[in-house]
Amino acid sequence: MKIDRIETFLVPPRWLFCRVETDEGHVGWGEPVVEGRAATVRTAVTELGEYLVGRDPLPIEDHWQVLTKGGFYRGGPVLSSAVAGLDQALWDIAGQVRGAPVHELLGGPVRDQVRVYGWIGGDDPSEVGEAAAAQAEAGLTAVKMNACGRLPHIASKSELDAVVARVASVREALGDERDVAIDFHGRVSAAAARQLLPRLAPLSPLFVEEPVLPEHRHLLSSIVACSPVPIATGERLYHRSDFLPALEAGIAVAQPDVSHAGGISELRRIAALAEVWNVALAPHCPLGPISLAASLQVAFATPNFLIQEQSLGIHYNERADLLDYLVDTEVFSFADGHVARPTRPGLGITIDEAAVRAAAEHGHAWRSPVWRHPDGSFAEW
Ligand SMILES: [Mg+2]
Repeated sequence: MKIDRIETFLVPPRWLFCRVETDEGHVGWGEPVVEGRAATVRTAVTELGEYLVGRDPLPIEDHWQVLTKGGFYRGGPVLSSAVAGLDQALWDIAGQVRGAPVHELLGGPVRDQVRVYGWIGGDDPSEVGEAAAAQAEAGLTAVKMNACGRLPHIASKSELDAVVARVASVREALGDERDVAIDFHGRVSAAAARQLLPRLAPLSPLFVEEPVLPEHRHLLSSIVACSPVPIATGERLYHRSDFLPALEAGIAVAQPDVSHAGGISELRRIAALAEVWNVALAPHCPLGPISLAASLQVAFATPNFLIQEQSLGIHYNERADLLDYLVDTEVFSFADGHVARPTRPGLGITIDEAAVRAAAEHGHAWRSPVWRHPDGSFAEW
């Protein structure tokens, strides 16, 4: 069996899909994308795909080694995301060839269902209490929210109070049985994080995410030391070696993204590394159905898994949503906040190829918003 053809599809709202076809008629799907840089990753997929065409798709680990190391320059979001999507597609094919879901190839299921969370409040949260109640009504048992919009380096008392009040309104709407996770999104300075974390602790958040930017990783241990709240990070880390300093700093939750951090192969290894540090896995996934399916396959085979992000109804999904490119949307139905174990071979989803091809005719040009402080200077989004 040989790989015959690799295609890429730029589809709304902001995704890139890749389709890998073999000469025996197997088709695997992957989602290689950096949000806002989809066309750049598409070029990387095309370059990396040159090596795969004409080769057996099944030696996935050897392909992963060549794709990540064979170009001499390695790592970073663009290359790691391109490899991630191709890796997902190869695992999809491997599952189909062997007639098994990917998690069975990873050692078999360690749980019957996977807990998921959804987003509330958008980029600049305001009326989050109602949104949290709606997600609870829809059956979710956990939500995530941004703590704030743009925030100055040193936040005022009213800005700090507003963050706490916003989270308090969500806690009140959810009750004590459900969970709220808070994303600082790298927009809170280390100084403000040190002020906020102890004040948020009485509200018992599930975790606080990205309390500092990835380039401030040397501050992470001091943030952990001052925080009674579990600290999470990882959506902007791309390899197990990127995670090592964060694990050494004492984070509680690792959040690799299966479409950024080298795919199913590397997510699995990051999970195993995190287990050594008694850290739980909560994969980042604000992306599309292929990314979620790939992430869930790892979740079902990972003992130290905590909770899975999913993007249904997320504020970015404006021209299309999570279920729009699936033939069978039941695979992502959430009962009591959990998704059931997929049983189909490969990634466990059936892509509506006609819908993908039609959507790709229009594509998208999604970009991350550029925020500015009131004085006109650049603000972290
Ligand atoms: Mg985040």
